Amino acid sequence: MSSEILALYPEIENLNIAKITGTKIYSANLHSLEQRRTDNLYSVIVDRLDFDDLIRNIAVDKGAELFDKNLSYDFVIKEGKRIGVKTKTPEEIKEYYGKIIILADGMSSKLAIKSGLRSKWELKDIIVSKCAIMEGENKLDYNLGYVFFQSYMGYGWIFPLGKKRFNIGCGSPAEIALKVNLNKMFGNFINDQYIKTHYLTSDYKTIWSGSYPLARNGILEKCLFSDNLLCIGDVAGFVSPITGEGIHQSMHSAKAAAEVAVNALEKEDYSKDTLKAYRNHPDVKNLRRVFKSLLRLRDFFFEENGKNLNEMLERAENDPEYREKALNIFFAK
Ligand SMILES: Cc1cc2nc3c(=O)[nH]c(=O)nc-3n(C[C@H](O)[C@H](O)[C@H](O)COP(=O)(O)OP(=O)(O)OC[C@H]3O[C@@H](n4cnc5c(N)ncnc54)[C@H](O)[C@@H]3O)c2cc1C
Repeated sequence: MSSEILALYPEIENLNIAKITGTKIYSANLHSLEQRRTDNLYSVIVDRLDFDDLIRNIAVDKGAELFDKNLSYDFVIKEGKRIGVKTKTPEEIKEYYGKIIILADGMSSKLAIKSGLRSKWELKDIIVSKCAIMEGENKLDYNLGYVFFQSYMGYGWIFPLGKKRFNIGCGSPAEIALKVNLNKMFGNFINDQYIKTHYLTSDYKTIWSGSYPLARNGILEKCLFSDNLLCIGDVAGFVSPITGEGIHQSMHSAKAAAEVAVNALEKEDYSKDTLKAYRNHPDVKNLRRVFKSLLRLRDFFFEENGKNLNEMLERAENDPEYREKALNIFFAK
């Protein structure tokens, strides 16, 4: 994620982070475009376990009450109104009450479905991804992140984590992964001849690997708010439709939801008429606008098996003026 996040959470600097200052993107037929930052921003690569612990501890330090090992599974309803959530712990069923409930339980949210704001994810709405942390000698420039767009709607990535370790993965729409098989896709990616020749030149030790779904089509506008309910982060699709990044975006949605919730608490009005201010919060509005243009760009890039992206990057390789324009399309904020 971008180092801009340090403005929200400077404590991240204390984690063992890898910093990368540029990105190299490849089209399906291996034309490439490389960006090296000249400002003082960079991308921060974190270990998610450390990062999530840090964010949780910051929340607790600021006054949040932590109920560990509770899995929410339903709402507590009284006189037709949601007044809290039911959770399961290893020992018992518990209930917690609140005037406003903010759903932040990610892709697997049970409560989003119980709320009626959205149904279960359909294949057309998700990307499935497999990633791994690997270790071994390589020829990666560890100041760069690598993105390999595929001819199908998907991409593979390699993010160096220092000199010998790297995070490697690939993702594609679930409908495609069902036909091709995600493990096979991942195997093809790490054994790709170009990648082996240029970057991953030896055998690698897998430190960790996992497979996950991601929202594919941007913010779910109908899943943002209801009476005494707000949805943030992955629950409501705050994930870039091109890159799959959602950490920064989720934090902005959380901040917007918190501001709207504080206002509702002050007014003592938790109805959807008050909470709809979340949808129109400047940060959410901006993300909705940006995601819509990213969706259009994504469709354009992947048209005819990635033909447009191939042509763009090929032209950028040969035409310095066009290269600047292309850099602006991919890397402008
Ligand atoms: C393979 C992969 C790579 C990614 N890479 C990037 C990247 O490089 N950069 C980036 O910005 N984003 C990336 N993302 C996306 C990013 O991880 C998410 O968008 C972001 O974590 C969303 O935050 P969230 O808080 O909404 O959800 P999550 O981070 O998923 O947090 C949800 C939390 O809710 C908890 N939870 C789930 N169910 C329940 C329940 N029933 N009861 C109680 N708690 C529950 C979970 O344990 C978890 O702690 C990636 C995603 C994947 C899958």
